[in-house]
Amino acid sequence: MKKTTLYNFNAGPAALPAEVLEAASQAITDFNGMGLSLLEIGHRTEPFIAVMEEARQLAKELLHLGEEHEVLFLHGGATTQFMQLPMNFLSADKKAAYTETGTWSVKAIAEAKHFGAVEIAGSSKADAFNNIPKTLSLSTDAAYLHITTNETIAGTQWHEIPYHSGVPLVADMSSDIFSRTMQFSAFDMIYAGAQKNMGAAGVTMVVLKKSWMASITNNPPSIMDYRNHLKEESMLNTPPVFAVYVAMLTLRWLKAQGGIAAIEKINDAKAALLYQTIDACPVYTAPVAKADRSKMNVVFTMQDAALEKKLLDECKQNGIYGIKGHRSVGGFRASLYNAVSLEATQVLSALLTDFALRHG
Ligand SMILES: *Cc1c(COP(=O)(O)O)cnc(C)c1O
Repeated sequence: MKKTTLYNFNAGPAALPAEVLEAASQAITDFNGMGLSLLEIGHRTEPFIAVMEEARQLAKELLHLGEEHEVLFLHGGATTQFMQLPMNFLSADKKAAYTETGTWSVKAIAEAKHFGAVEIAGSSKADAFNNIPKTLSLSTDAAYLHITTNETIAGTQWHEIPYHSGVPLVADMSSDIFSRTMQFSAFDMIYAGAQKNMGAAGVTMVVLKKSWMASITNNPPSIMDYRNHLKEESMLNTPPVFAVYVAMLTLRWLKAQGGIAAIEKINDAKAALLYQTIDACPVYTAPVAKADRSKMNVVFTMQDAALEKKLLDECKQNGIYGIKGHRSVGGFRASLYNAVSLEATQVLSALLTDFALRHG
């Protein structure tokens, strides 16, 4: 059994539910009582096809998607989607609108430029990415509008989704997929690497609206063409079978918790508690504009580098793991993904309060 004494606030790969880890371990030695490992059966066998189908079906159900959307599980991480999206939907004679809100959207923009023109519809770059732009400006003939719903490193999150920009809406939801209710059916495309909030590294979920897919006129290499993946039901080539299985188990777990609306309540409580704690202690600073704070990645800093080190040491002694900030920004970051319990958040919050009393 997994050690449960650790409180894991890693940003990604990140915490997974203990039940999921347990079932995934079991499948490695004996999958479904077959006497074979999940890792040694063909992906086109009935037992694995059933896993892939259940994963796609659960995603659709949890996101409240109807027949007009398709769910794919693809290789390559969200970073591959930075390229695959424009490779399918952008061309040299077109432009795409992107919002520039942090490290991840900047990377997405750089990849799109390989295929066509990019128009920046809104940016918070001048504010060191500490907020989300409130007004967007884009051309009516843009191929699509791209947003990063949660900037994992900056710790910002879109709370008002620009559903009505007039052009197809595409979102990188790698770090907040399945964490909060949204009008998922209003998106033309959603993509998310699994390793933050829906499973293990190695697979990326891609949701595509069929009518938008029908507009593809580019002719990408076959493995990059979304239409081929759809036609082959996410089995164009060997899928990352284990990662798909872990995603399926995680979605089953989420359904058993009551789905997105139920987990959102817990996520709201976790984030509220942690931000209250940080705001109440002057020794900590939360750099993100209040209205745009991420409920998934809580970023904060301290003035004194020696104290930072001390806090990290105390966290370690208390089984609190993974709150060091991203190497590019420093400070601290506590990631509160679905599998992080309210109890774990209470433990972190209590330690932060206690530390501030002793060092404030
Ligand atoms: C982690 C992350 C990525 C990159 O994901 P990979 O699977 O490593 O390619 C992209 N976008 C966001 C928002 C992320 O958090």
